[in-house]
Amino acid sequence: MKLASTLQSLRTDNSFAALPNAFYSRVSPQPLGDPWLVHANPEAAALIGLAPEALSTPEFLDVFSGARPLPGGAPLAAVYSGHQFGVWAGQLGDGRALLLGEVQGSGGNWELQLKGSGLTPYSRMGDGKAVLRSSVREYLASEAMHGLGIPTTRALALVASDDPVIRETVETAAIVTRMSPSFVRFGSFEHWASRQRPDLLRVLADYVIDRFYPECRPAPAGEAATEAGPYLRLLAAVTRKTAELMADWQAVGFCHGVMNTDNMSILGLTLDYGPYGFMDGFDAHHVCNHSDTAGRYAWDAQPAVGHWNLYRLAGALLPLVQDEAALRAALAGYEATFVDAFHRKMAAKLGFRQWQAGDEELLNGLWSVMHHNRADFTLSFRRLAEVATADGAPAPAPDAETFEDLYADREAARAWLAGYRERVRQDGRPDAERAAAMHRVNPLYVLRNHLAELAIRAAKERDPSEIDRLLQLLRDPYTERPGYESYARVPPDWAGSLQVSCSS
Ligand code: AMP
Ligand code: MG
Repeated sequence: MKLASTLQSLRTDNSFAALPNAFYSRVSPQPLGDPWLVHANPEAAALIGLAPEALSTPEFLDVFSGARPLPGGAPLAAVYSGHQFGVWAGQLGDGRALLLGEVQGSGGNWELQLKGSGLTPYSRMGDGKAVLRSSVREYLASEAMHGLGIPTTRALALVASDDPVIRETVETAAIVTRMSPSFVRFGSFEHWASRQRPDLLRVLADYVIDRFYPECRPAPAGEAATEAGPYLRLLAAVTRKTAELMADWQAVGFCHGVMNTDNMSILGLTLDYGPYGFMDGFDAHHVCNHSDTAGRYAWDAQPAVGHWNLYRLAGALLPLVQDEAALRAALAGYEATFVDAFHRKMAAKLGFRQWQAGDEELLNGLWSVMHHNRADFTLSFRRLAEVATADGAPAPAPDAETFEDLYADREAARAWLAGYRERVRQDGRPDAERAAAMHRVNPLYVLRNHLAELAIRAAKERDPSEIDRLLQLLRDPYTERPGYESYARVPPDWAGSLQVSCSS
């Protein structure tokens, strides 16, 4: 596909806007005052057929600061509902987001959505705005997750302004443009179920199936076609994707922070980056969202919360299926899918050829020693690759930073390593081969809070270079780059006081 140098050449196809009016409100964005382009992402642009030179045009800044419509677009705010922190919250909806339109790309269609573009009928008590701080965090995290190979919405552009926005202090406004094949959430389904509108619920489910899960439409060979069948198969497919996503998150020490059902993508993508965090020192019960005082969304709770959220989705589908037992059966694959994906990922992270009996105990031993030492999550796995297991292997260079160095209780770390070495020797995999394989799955660089914070501080001074540097690194977080040693280190002392909350 030849890349276009202006937005005029984009091909749009606004399928969500073609749904009945009840699904959204037509709204135009409220433009940022005196906007400047902080960053634009040529990788995401290429997905919609846009050439890098298009990103520096005045037209690009106009459209993604909300001043001019997307050519061929149909701007709207979508309605949805959801459970927030375990409690039914009723109607929510795009309170500060706006779908500009859906653009055709070579690998499929992408919806382009502004976040922070002003009031909508769903803004409730909010101001419809987003601050630069949280917009930089969302922009970076989307691309960092993609670099890790984890399903996620993408980020196309980040535009800022001096317009004041009141949070705990006065901050400044920004708009991040996100891209996703769809922004439909579990809460989109809950909305029509709670409104007792099975007709619209069916329209939504059919839309999602036909566009994103066409394989769920026909009954598998040997099974009778029923009216409920496609919806049950949809639930089973979303269950699988969600379980796999949870395994992805766990394996990199990612905490989402606000796993409400309105933030759960029907496509199994990581959606809505607010008070998320990549763990530094490992704490199994780590809660990244300062506002989550009960720890509902702690790291070790995420897989169970994913399941709980799927139950809410299943409940929302009940009017279409009318069979609780069948819905339960569709959810039943969750645990096995999660465990299987998690074991596969952890075996690779540990450098094993495959997961085998007994590995659970070894892994739990590692979690335990990491937890008690608050050992760095990312570096623990990365340095494990360099642990020599062969008899007579040379000792590490005296200045090399080793696995044990991450542990205050070095004896405990060594005791665990003894079992690890034993397991690796059984595998019969040469150290060099194991190390290379481990380096391909254990990132050296992750979007640590303090790295995002440095990028935010620079962006506030109108310096986007730190965002650019981080994106370069996080696009391929597995390859060590000379000169970037500080990006691979545990956080400095000042980072201890950083807090992220729902305020964004
Ligand atoms: P979140 O948990 O951040 O995904 O947001 C939950 C709900 O609050 C969604 O309906 C958002 O659109 C809405 N919301 C969050 N922040 C704002 C804001 N500043 N103005 C309007 N609506 C907001
Ligand atoms: Mg949300």
